[in-house]
Amino acid sequence: MIPVVDLRAEYGLVQADIDAAVQRVLESGWYILGKEVAAFEEEFAAWCGVSGAVGVGNGTDALHIALRACGIGPGDEVITVAHTAVATAAAIALTGATPVFVDIDPATYTLDPAGLAEAITPRTKAVIPVHLYGHPADLGAILPIARKAGLRVIEDCAQAHGAEWQGQKVGSVGDLACFSFYPTKNLGALGDGGAVVGNDPALLERVRLLREYGWKPENRYVSEIEGMNSRLDEMQAAILRVKLAHLDGWNEHRRRLAAVYAAHLPDSVVKPVERPGYRHVYHLYVVRSDNRDGLQKKLRAAGIASGIHYPVPVHQQAAYRHLSPVSLPATEQAAAEILSLPMHSTLTEAQIERVCAAIAA
Ligand SMILES: *Cc1c(COP(=O)(O)O)cnc(C)c1O
Repeated sequence: MIPVVDLRAEYGLVQADIDAAVQRVLESGWYILGKEVAAFEEEFAAWCGVSGAVGVGNGTDALHIALRACGIGPGDEVITVAHTAVATAAAIALTGATPVFVDIDPATYTLDPAGLAEAITPRTKAVIPVHLYGHPADLGAILPIARKAGLRVIEDCAQAHGAEWQGQKVGSVGDLACFSFYPTKNLGALGDGGAVVGNDPALLERVRLLREYGWKPENRYVSEIEGMNSRLDEMQAAILRVKLAHLDGWNEHRRRLAAVYAAHLPDSVVKPVERPGYRHVYHLYVVRSDNRDGLQKKLRAAGIASGIHYPVPVHQQAAYRHLSPVSLPATEQAAAEILSLPMHSTLTEAQIERVCAAIAA
């Protein structure tokens, strides 16, 4: 079976270095928010091209904390897409604010700027563009709309470590940006992890306070503001430091594989696009077919796994259906047609040729 992702194989690429990093943490006697986390925060901020990074428990918490750092809460509206991991909407709802869903650009699967402009009300405080599948949202159009309306821009970079817009890495563009290090992501821990990054020292300071009960480092056990507990642990930070050194190479590998897909896939499926001025990092390689379910079944029979990210748009899920009576035609059509083909750091060109031959057949 050719799997969609292969986490064991990725560990194998860096096994000796990860084992050594884990051993170093085990013997240090310090397991939460220590030297490894501080070093990873510094290295990851430099890699993103921002002034600071704050390690947190996971990507959902990163979004929740970033929203709260921007002062967003009950009574506020936050605009985002329904074609995303449910985490994006969950993080907004956890602050007490209301997620407002707008449609997507069907070519890139990211937030449609025209929909954003129409959805803004006096209660709108922020927009979360999601750089879905590894292609940045249309930041060139979104930023001026958000600035004019006085909205905070919080980037959801959970699927886009290393993606670029106009030569700038995503995560360095908005007021704050949020990453997940869930094991399957382009930069994945061997457990949960996340980070909030940015360039505004005051916002980053609030993120640091919110991460651990509103405590200042020099005044532990005394809360300045109401915070939560969402800490990155030393083991995950040490593992992430090992993998960060390989991330550029792994993203290049994903881009090479995408080129092989593009050269061999038949015209019966719609291939992903990379807009001029953007750098796609192919967290997922998603094609469209009007016979998606049939295609998925045939691939499975040929020993090829595939996925659907995501089968039910958030505005149609029981938990969030009450929020938005709108219909989102491009989102709903995408959900019915998308299929994620195998894409990961140890996939080979020969395997992709097998996938493409099976689709053509
Ligand atoms: C994975 C993901 C998240 C959430 O990250 P977790 O670490 O799983 O909480 C948020 N947004 C998007 C787009 C994601 O893919």
